[in-house]
Amino acid sequence: MNWALIGASTIASENMIGAIRAQSGAQIGWVVSGSAEHAASYAEAHDIPRWTVDLAEALADPQVQAVYISSTNEKHHGQALAAIAAGKHVLCEKPMALSRSEAEEMIVAARDAGVVLAVNHHLRSSAAIRAIRRLLDDGALGQLRSMRIFHAVALPRHLYGWRLDQPAAGGGVIADITVHNADTARFLLQEDPQFVVAEKAMTGLGQGVEDSAMSVWTMPSGVMVYSHESFTHPFARSGLEIHGSEGSLYARGVMQEGPDGAIELVTAQGSQPVSYDWRGAYDAVVADFMQAAAEGRAPAASGVDGLRSLMVAEAVRRAAMTGKRQAPEYGDLT
Ligand code: NDP
Repeated sequence: MNWALIGASTIASENMIGAIRAQSGAQIGWVVSGSAEHAASYAEAHDIPRWTVDLAEALADPQVQAVYISSTNEKHHGQALAAIAAGKHVLCEKPMALSRSEAEEMIVAARDAGVVLAVNHHLRSSAAIRAIRRLLDDGALGQLRSMRIFHAVALPRHLYGWRLDQPAAGGGVIADITVHNADTARFLLQEDPQFVVAEKAMTGLGQGVEDSAMSVWTMPSGVMVYSHESFTHPFARSGLEIHGSEGSLYARGVMQEGPDGAIELVTAQGSQPVSYDWRGAYDAVVADFMQAAAEGRAPAASGVDGLRSLMVAEAVRRAAMTGKRQAPEYGDLT
């Protein structure tokens, strides 16, 4: 599969270029950026043969079969529609768009064009999250009662910028991290939040956008989910807990990429570690995406998953702004 990168981004340089090149038969032919200077230096640094500031030029290349979109959030929608119209498969960063109508347009366009639209909600492809999902599927916790997600981190200094001060670019921790928590909860619990209550705050980094949020989600089954995300917590550890009638799971270090996660299962029989074979989640996303394109099947995180996880985040934002319980507006697409 021949790829074009749309966005000369940090996530591509730190994770996705390596993940694409780790797949047999995958090459990166183009990088598209808004700045010629940035595009040229990025292409040279990453050994990408061609660069352009004209998206149409890369999309006109018949060798390009897929694009990876990792521009700032407000650009995802237009760039994805252009790529789909050119017949390319699309792996789009989260949040996939800024609104339900944008996300729906992307999903319908990809369906009509017969191309794969996937969203890089990589956590559902992580070995730790998959190990937890297997335990839940096996009923190891009995009747589920609650889930707590800890995703308060320190935003690395090299990522300061649009995330902290540009609402129009989709900045703020809700667009950045709440969507990941929503997708992880939806994947693990296999249901979508029905109602949310929330608070958000600027606790030191955000300028015009929130850098911290806490919310509680009610699932249709009655399971309650607590989600905490922040950019301002240098010493906090990420993780999640899931509690049921027959057991509890304590997972630490599983909301960030890396091999150092640890999962503990506690039941009436005592406590035991849960082992899993670590593999890079981003590698797994790209491998799944390429297989989905080859087989004409849905990817691990589809456009509808991206839309629904975005709608949970949007409901969190509305709930925090209004102080009132909100229902995510998922729409009709399934
Ligand atoms: P970056 O700020 O590194 O890059 C985004 C865009 O900013 C670039 O594509 C580029 O726009 C512009 N840009 C950055 N540096 C320069 C520069 N020196 N000169 C000119 N323009 C520059 O963003 P991230 O990599 O942090 O995030 C990109 C996307 O990926 C976001 O949608 C984010 O939510 C998502 N993401 C997802 C993660 C995941 O785990 N799934 C993790 C991290 C991010 P242009 O190319 O148009 O010129």
